[in-house]
Amino acid sequence: MSVKSSFFMPLVLLAVMAGCGPTGQCQETGGDYEKFKETIILRFKDRVPRQWGETVPGVKTKLNSTKKVIALTLDACGSKNDGYDSRLMDYLIRENIPATLFINARWIDKYPREFKVLATNSLFEIENHGFAHKPCSVNGRSIYGINGTSSVGEVVDEIEKGARKIASLTGRKPLYYRSGTAYYDEVAVEVAAEMGYQIAGFSILGDAGASYSQEQVRNALLRAEPGDVIICHMNHPESETAEGIIEAVGELKKRGFIFVRLSDSGMK
Ligand SMILES: [Zn+2]
Repeated sequence: MSVKSSFFMPLVLLAVMAGCGPTGQCQETGGDYEKFKETIILRFKDRVPRQWGETVPGVKTKLNSTKKVIALTLDACGSKNDGYDSRLMDYLIRENIPATLFINARWIDKYPREFKVLATNSLFEIENHGFAHKPCSVNGRSIYGINGTSSVGEVVDEIEKGARKIASLTGRKPLYYRSGTAYYDEVAVEVAAEMGYQIAGFSILGDAGASYSQEQVRNALLRAEPGDVIICHMNHPESETAEGIIEAVGELKKRGFIFVRLSDSGMK
């Protein structure tokens, strides 16, 4: 057993002790949560990050497969102006296209009914897009004018409270985490790994925060190669994301690509 994995095991046990049942149901907080958090804070207290970005060491950006598979990942951020892109989601359901949904806790509160429908559809896996949609920093870095988490403790809260909210509603603890803005420092990425989560980056920027035109979305997706992970958004029905995806998915299927969820192939 390596040093890293011998550290890792007790943390998983601590997570179980911290209010998570054997099938993954967790309380949002409480139990031994504070102890769990303190252990991680202690472990990382002397670490100073040197990098800040979307692809710092430890962020996984591709599928772990040599087959002609690609993954569509869709973020739901829970910001003030968020909606629900039913046109996009109805299309995926109708056409039987699997996807991985990164959902923020605030979005769940805003769209509880839609969340339940998506969470109970086996086409989709629900993953963690954080509790308050903060960039993932151990020392308060910011990006696009959005303040990141300011400490290791805040990183733990942002990740774990989001994960526990999802687990408490679905009975399944998320495997993957993607921060608000998808920015990280490399120490925060290690914190997430110690907590048992993989950081899901991406290899194709599909809609640039739902700002792309239909043609830009389509062109971005049509650059896909085997193993690519596409990031788009399902929270902006006013955008042209849905049209762009619908156009590209048909063409990608013609080219022989198979859509998978992240956990179907795993990430590297
Ligand atoms: Zn987001």
